[in-house]
Amino acid sequence: MQSQEKTFVIVGAGLAGARAAETLREEGFGGRLLLIGDEPERPYERPPLSKEYLRGEADGKPFVHDPGFYDERGIELWSSTRVTAIEPGQRELLLEGDRRQGYDKLLLATGAVPRRLDVPGANLDGIHYLRTLPDSEAIGERIGAGERLVVVGSGWIGAEIAASARQKGAEVTMLEMSSLPLERVLGPEVGRIYRDIHRDHGVEFIPETTVERFEGAESVERVITRDGAVIDTEFVVVGIGVAPRTGLLETTGLRVDDGIVVNEGLATSIPGVYAAGDIASARHPHYGRHLRIEHWANANAQGPAAARAMLGQDVSYAEIPYFFSDQYDVGMEYGGHATDWDEVVFRGDVDAREFIAFWVKDERLVAGMNVNVWDVNEEIRELIRSGSEVDADRLRDPEVPLSALRNGAAGAEDDDEQLAIGAWASEGGSC
Ligand SMILES: Cc1cc2nc3c(=O)[nH]c(=O)nc-3n(C[C@H](O)[C@H](O)[C@H](O)COP(=O)(O)OP(=O)(O)OC[C@H]3O[C@@H](n4cnc5c(N)ncnc54)[C@H](O)[C@@H]3O)c2cc1C
Repeated sequence: MQSQEKTFVIVGAGLAGARAAETLREEGFGGRLLLIGDEPERPYERPPLSKEYLRGEADGKPFVHDPGFYDERGIELWSSTRVTAIEPGQRELLLEGDRRQGYDKLLLATGAVPRRLDVPGANLDGIHYLRTLPDSEAIGERIGAGERLVVVGSGWIGAEIAASARQKGAEVTMLEMSSLPLERVLGPEVGRIYRDIHRDHGVEFIPETTVERFEGAESVERVITRDGAVIDTEFVVVGIGVAPRTGLLETTGLRVDDGIVVNEGLATSIPGVYAAGDIASARHPHYGRHLRIEHWANANAQGPAAARAMLGQDVSYAEIPYFFSDQYDVGMEYGGHATDWDEVVFRGDVDAREFIAFWVKDERLVAGMNVNVWDVNEEIRELIRSGSEVDADRLRDPEVPLSALRNGAAGAEDDDEQLAIGAWASEGGSC
């Protein structure tokens, strides 16, 4: 069959889906191209939803493309359309309203949804989660009105919401199950820095606790912690992690293990079906295992990579994980991936919050984070990718360019562990 007679369908009109559609056309795919999403809006970026958009400071909605983009390229964008089942044997999708749609190749880019807190009172009004534009608008309105807020969870989402709310002058209490914000990703050395940043900005940070129950007549009025503390509040935002949206796949026979399991070329176990973005647990050649990465840069690059794989190109997705976060006047970028390490080495001025933190394991750099220091993260990722042996004193020394630390290459150990990275909310531990 000629390419122009084929139908490629992308399920999930988020960042990964939108970028995949864009790439398919750029790479010359001339067939029918459907981008199906259940949200009413065209694809948009989520990072501003906890930052400038939440604070009402954005210049409009953070759409991925201009309004005419999809029509101009013959991309059929079906918004407000939920896919309810996939029948890979027939190469067909079932859509809400019992409609069917065939495909020749299929990309699954259904993203993730916030994990829910299951405690008494969890269904009261005024308990919010943040994933979509309307979520951000609803929370932003309350922050703008100066309402008092409890943030449950101090992972990236919780920490950014707390920062935005304080920037707007709201009173904020942040509850965390572990002892420090962002501790699971960053460890205690850097978690302490983030705790101090939030406390310096007036957040009441309460560690090592969980929510026992919410109380209120109709809307939440109090949070009761497991230690019996009673915190009066006007609303709550829960940021305790996200779960991959795999519900659609239960009867498909696709391999699902904390996300859709795909190979280095982003292909699933069923021919013609691919996955990208937050939903994909992809085998990573550098790490020699499967990673599911819940970050903007991953969706932005994996969508195009999956598109190229759908066109039959030889794809091996090997980007070193990267993400960013902005809280108050503290901007950071993180490259790599560290689950355990021997030492965290700092370069720069930690007290002035202008520094680079390096996570070192077996004398090799596994992750690096630049805080209010710019144009270095690519070098950091190059150094990680090179597998060079690094000397802690040279890492510490700002006079030594990062490029001078690269000296060799190392292969990855091979195992088949599944790993989720990033967890735009889950990394901070749940309450
Ligand atoms: C508030 C917020 C702030 C963030 N900030 C940062 C940041 O600062 N830095 C960073 O690196 N990352 C950040 N992230 C993470 C980043 O936005 C995500 O990793 C990225 O959006 C993932 O894109 P995706 O396309 O894989 O999934 P999504 O953006 O979740 O898109 C998936 C789409 O598929 C749709 N869908 C799902 N199932 C179906 C179905 N059955 N039928 C039809 N449609 C369906 C969904 O409704 C959704 O529109 C943030 C995330 C959030 C929520």
